[in-house]
Amino acid sequence: MSKTVTVIGGGISGIAAAVYLKENGYDVKMFEGSAKLGGRAFSYFDAETGLTLDNGQHILAGWYENTFELLQKMNKMPDLHMTQNLHVFFKEKNGTELEFFAKGDEPLLSVAKGFMNYPPLNVKDKLKLLRLREMIEIDFPERIKGKKLSWLLDYLKQTDNLKKYFWEPFAFAVFNASPEYIDAELFYNVLVKAFEYPTAFSLVIPAENLSELFSTPFVKYAENKIELKTGCNAKQFIIEKNNVKGLTMENGDLIASDYYVSTVPFYNFQRLFTESSFEEHFTGYKELKSSSILSVILVPEKMPEGFSNRFYFGMAGIIDGFSQWVFFKDEYISVIISAPEYTVSDFVNMTKEYVCKKVEQEIRDYFPEFKNIEFKRIKYLREKRATFLPETNSKESRPDSLTSISNLFLAGDWTNTGLPSTIEGAVISGRKCAQLISEM
Ligand SMILES: Cc1cc2nc3c(=O)[nH]c(=O)nc-3n(C[C@H](O)[C@H](O)[C@H](O)COP(=O)(O)OP(=O)(O)OC[C@H]3O[C@@H](n4cnc5c(N)ncnc54)[C@H](O)[C@@H]3O)c2cc1C
Repeated sequence: MSKTVTVIGGGISGIAAAVYLKENGYDVKMFEGSAKLGGRAFSYFDAETGLTLDNGQHILAGWYENTFELLQKMNKMPDLHMTQNLHVFFKEKNGTELEFFAKGDEPLLSVAKGFMNYPPLNVKDKLKLLRLREMIEIDFPERIKGKKLSWLLDYLKQTDNLKKYFWEPFAFAVFNASPEYIDAELFYNVLVKAFEYPTAFSLVIPAENLSELFSTPFVKYAENKIELKTGCNAKQFIIEKNNVKGLTMENGDLIASDYYVSTVPFYNFQRLFTESSFEEHFTGYKELKSSSILSVILVPEKMPEGFSNRFYFGMAGIIDGFSQWVFFKDEYISVIISAPEYTVSDFVNMTKEYVCKKVEQEIRDYFPEFKNIEFKRIKYLREKRATFLPETNSKESRPDSLTSISNLFLAGDWTNTGLPSTIEGAVISGRKCAQLISEM
């Protein structure tokens, strides 16, 4: 008879764990606390606008190879916008458009050429880019341990121009934080991934909504294969002699299986244990902090011609703005502000109405085509615990998948993946748990 595995949580890491466990012949049950699957990557029908919206725009990258493989395993042919190159557009307040285009088959060389042709950079900026060569020195990862990205950029003598026109927008897009909150080692790990092969650094924008991309294919895959239960909150593990004997559920049920995979986020993790068993097995644990993502959705009376195909599939960065990234869709505009509680001064005193007005004005200033276009709806959407604040990569805050409890494994973007809070990190962690269980 197949061994049984209980997966707690139906976000991306839970989906990955369940699929790979099933592929390895296990009998899998998944319990998701909320009414829907997908965790922090989901879509919903918004009656106010009549549109199906994501809970926030997600971008993937060419190096998300585990994510693409997971989609393949679920027989999902994803509808994705991507090119072979790193191609990014930025806008300044006066409407000036700046294009960064790294084209070619050799990643390092093409990015170098991209920088050379990037309009806002002057000769001094370009010379300082040569300092980046230090990053390929053998002891470089050791030297930056425990440091922040802001320190690293200064250490590499990156100019204000380079920070403003490249590194800061990059930090917001990939880490949902500004450089002073980003662990330098995490930043380095992402760069290494991005330079692995020519298409790795391309940006990938889903052309379908997030639930169509992940949850719907998973539900189809799971049919008659995986027992899925939504609206089922796990309460606490019963642990005896370094072994989980059972899992109590909020509804009073008791679940027993051979193995357990927790994929809950860090802010729900500790409460799955009694105080004493948590202290015993996760000594020195330091909980990460969350950071939010604020999206403002603007629905214009009429979208100016061809906007969703302009820039990089409708994506443009805002230089020196309150907003950071803008995505033009066929029927609406999605404006992203990363971690405003950390990046926008006095954000706590700003009302939703004030934020929406500010973003509306910014769209008109940066994209003059919208000067005389009315917005019929403006919607404020804030995911308060969108990502973890990537201040640290330490094991005290990011535990390994393998625990000192023999049949308990941990997944989730926040576990020890070496990556920031990303879909790819979540997939890697779920897949790793499946692999560890198969090796038992
Ligand atoms: C607005 C926004 C924008 C983002 N942008 C990007 C992006 O551009 N690119 C990118 O790669 N990533 C992005 N991310 C991050 C990405 O969505 C997450 O890293 C990823 O979805 C995390 O997946 P996870 O499975 O680790 O955690 P989660 O998605 O949090 O899944 C955990 C699941 O466990 C469930 N759960 C919790 N407690 C219990 C319990 N006791 N019992 C049962 N179930 C429980 C939760 O309900 C949840 O469904 C973004 C996130 C947000 C919110």
